[in-house]
Amino acid sequence: MLIVQKFGGSSVADAEKINRVAGIIADTYADGNDVVVVLSAQGDTTDDLIAKAAEINPKASKREMDVLLSTGEQISVALMSMALERMGLPVVSLTGWQVQMRTNFDYSNARILSCSTERIQQELDKRRIVIVTGFQGVNGMGDITTLGRGGSDTSAVAIAAVLHADKCQIFTDVEGVFTADPRKVPNARKLDEITYDEMMELASLGAQVLHNRSVEMAKRYGVDLEVLSSYVRKPGTKVKEVVKNVEQMKISGIAKDNNVSRIAVVGVPDEPGIAFKLFRVLANSKINVDIILQSIDRNGTNDISFTVSEADYEKTMQLVEERKDSLHYKELYGDKKVAKVSIVGAGMLTSSGVAALMFEALSDAKINIQVISTSEIKVSVLINEDDADKAVQVIHNKFFD
Ligand code: ADP
Ligand code: ASP
Ligand code: MG
Repeated sequence: MLIVQKFGGSSVADAEKINRVAGIIADTYADGNDVVVVLSAQGDTTDDLIAKAAEINPKASKREMDVLLSTGEQISVALMSMALERMGLPVVSLTGWQVQMRTNFDYSNARILSCSTERIQQELDKRRIVIVTGFQGVNGMGDITTLGRGGSDTSAVAIAAVLHADKCQIFTDVEGVFTADPRKVPNARKLDEITYDEMMELASLGAQVLHNRSVEMAKRYGVDLEVLSSYVRKPGTKVKEVVKNVEQMKISGIAKDNNVSRIAVVGVPDEPGIAFKLFRVLANSKINVDIILQSIDRNGTNDISFTVSEADYEKTMQLVEERKDSLHYKELYGDKKVAKVSIVGAGMLTSSGVAALMFEALSDAKINIQVISTSEIKVSVLINEDDADKAVQVIHNKFFD
């Protein structure tokens, strides 16, 4: 079998952990498999590099940030190869450039366009274990790019897809995908299986256990994906197209996202073209808008509120302020202290009252809901950031206890 194994930053944080992971890789190889390993930067390396850059230039260009951040993964692959060399195993480390992981030009958040199999396959043919840097690629100019925080999962899935690997295993510091973040919700349950669609929603809504684009890619190419522990050798969570919902669960999980800010444009004229003008301006500046809510008409005016990531908050406020005259609004409010808490589950398609149960949990805990947004398999609420952890816990209790 051809197996792609990805290990996250905490799994390779120090020498002892690198040796432990080398043991997992060596066993997989000894079983007769071809093994391609994708690694993240060790521990907090990426954060430390970001802090280092800020000391020199807080407004460093994204291009230079990518040159810097990509070094973290290069350290990991070299060290892991050395650990395997010491065990007497044939191994080679390769960077994003060496495997021709091609991306677009979106520095710091690049998308993978293609990945060559040539070099990796040559090495596998020599029966070598191949260790590849996660998180990085090269664009059409040959510049180094990075895929966005948590992007090593996507590197691993991309490599599994182009190599038609039999399995892509994402090893991390928890035993799989849980019904909520197991570090925050002690009674969270491990799921044996979850669908690509549900996992994609959970990942996009804040469950950082998988990079959302990795799940999207796994679904598109039908990659056999599993999330499992680097520390305990037992089955983790399979992410797949269809699952057996033996427990008939109404929802699969709860996610929280603190990286949300809410902006309210109050008292805009109730006439065609206003929403277009507002969101065109944001789109032109590449600002991603998430939840949008427009109130009903009150004496010829209404209010539009929407959310953007905290990183885009200042820029968004500035852009809307600058257009006060053309948008003709009365007031502008912004709030960074909001969080989005969401429930996700394909079970919602067939069972009713799921949203009501979530709202009941919040009501019992006296947590005020600011905005509600729903789609086929999710319900999200915006609430005060200070209530977010408690909200996740009470909703979890309501659905799973
Ligand atoms: P890695 O460094 O291995 O990529 P991450 O920190 O990116 O690991 O992701 C693993 C973390 O995701 C866990 O430690 C856990 O706290 C968090 N997490 C959030 N939501 C969930 C969930 N629903 N199931 C499992 N882990 C979750
Ligand atoms: N090292 C990168 C990060 O910390 C990528 C990853 O870990 O997936 O975001
Ligand atoms: Mg991660």
